[in-house]
Amino acid sequence: MFRFALPTKIIFGKKCVKEHAAELHTLGKKAFIVTGKYSAKLNGSLLDIQEALESIGISYILFDQITSNPTIDQVRAAAQIAREKKVDFVIGIGGGSPLDAAKAIAVLATNELDDQQLFTGPYPQPFLPVAAVPTTAGTGSEVTQYSILSNANLETKTSIAHNGIFPKLAFLDARYTAKLPKRVTIHTAVDALSHSLEGYLSVKATTFSNIFAEKSLQLLGECLPYISKDPTLEIREKLLYASMLGGIVIAHTGTTAVHSMGYSLTYFKGIDHGRANGLLLAEYLRFLDVSYHEKIHTILQLLHMKTIDEFAAKMHHLLGETDTITAEEVKLFSEKAAGAANIANTLLPPTEQELAAIFQKSLKFVS
Ligand code: NAP
Ligand code: FE
Repeated sequence: MFRFALPTKIIFGKKCVKEHAAELHTLGKKAFIVTGKYSAKLNGSLLDIQEALESIGISYILFDQITSNPTIDQVRAAAQIAREKKVDFVIGIGGGSPLDAAKAIAVLATNELDDQQLFTGPYPQPFLPVAAVPTTAGTGSEVTQYSILSNANLETKTSIAHNGIFPKLAFLDARYTAKLPKRVTIHTAVDALSHSLEGYLSVKATTFSNIFAEKSLQLLGECLPYISKDPTLEIREKLLYASMLGGIVIAHTGTTAVHSMGYSLTYFKGIDHGRANGLLLAEYLRFLDVSYHEKIHTILQLLHMKTIDEFAAKMHHLLGETDTITAEEVKLFSEKAAGAANIANTLLPPTEQELAAIFQKSLKFVS
């Protein structure tokens, strides 16, 4: 048995915002545009959206203060403005951070919630509709029902997971990703890889979600040799497509232990989200290989690799020198990961001791 639903209308291809501007009409008459501080102004995405809105007579307010790993305070401040300005819908433009922020703002613009309720509900009012324009190729947030925020109360990253925050519309134009710095290209591609790989190894994986995971892994396997060498627009488009497929996967399977563990590396050590996952992937595969050799063999085949050692070497080549971890960090991060919600999606959820071993083997252990 499987269940599958994707409420997002996906519009993919060069100049798709301009050519399909009229789609935005369905969301309302006044937009709240959410971006990071710089990149959306430089890569053409913000201008395309502004021109699209102007061409169909939709007014807008711009909020351009979202940072990487957005905080609860940031989305509250933005939602306050969205409410005062009486906007009808939210457009997130950027990497996963502005897209996730846009979703949280859509929740808070119509609901008075304390910090705990923000993640758990109940949500008395329907949310504002969201449109998403990704400018990195990694998170797949444009097609997921997740918004992941830095949560100072719990000292980790916490997800809002609710069908009401699936973007109604997603515009994917790889031209926006053309000038992504090498570091962001690699880290975000590794996040996409992590989504499809984890989704394939999730207890919630189905024959249908695996179609998306397998295609995504195959495309990422084709792209990996090129991602550290100023990829062509053709490769960029493949990465964006593979990342979207990875998003569709995790929308159905959830993420697993790798994401549970990676959140601490990001929250406490400031390691980029995709990099955090990438550092952990090889040891996670070794952990599951004992019981799920066939599945892992399939993943490696799709990536055009033969062994986990080869996979580990590729990750090392892409990510460069491994970050360090101390004994105290191993203890704290393993405790946090063991208590994370998504760890239960893992085919064989690691115990706290096993999580500690994966951390210790994945990073450079310093006493
Ligand atoms: P990001 O934090 O959104 O952006 C990283 C950096 O890249 C920022 O400095 C940003 O600059 C810059 N940037 C973005 N697009 C660019 C472009 N086209 N050209 C040049 N620079 C660009 O990174 P991300 O990896 O995409 O997103 C990570 C976040 O997504 C994390 O919070 C993670 O937890 C979350 N996530 C969500 C889901 C989900 O399903 N919702 C899944 C996985 C991860 P500006 O700040 O100036 O824009
Ligand atoms: Fe992720």
